Amino acid sequence: MPARPFRWLPHHHKRHAVKADVVARDQARTLCGEDLVIPATHTKDQWCWPTCTDCDTRWRAEEGILPFPRRSNPTPRPQRPAPTTATTRTR
Ligand SMILES: [Zn+2]
Repeated sequence: MPARPFRWLPHHHKRHAVKADVVARDQARTLCGEDLVIPATHTKDQWCWPTCTDCDTRWRAEEGILPFPRRSNPTPRPQRPAPTTATTRTR
């Protein structure tokens, strides 16, 4: 029995949680419900992708980990602006 039921997997520009026992080329589903095939390799860059908050929440729920209480220090995460294309409207 694995110590942890899930592990993180870079997918679609986020790090998602999948079951810990999946191996490369397995058909799997992330905790947030995305179907994917486990890739054989990852680049170092992919591990720098942001954590999928949906997977994080579900992982915590599955493992019974309560969100860390941070009332005393509310640090709002800087919201990254949506990627804007530098196109100029011609109309
Ligand atoms: Zn996810």
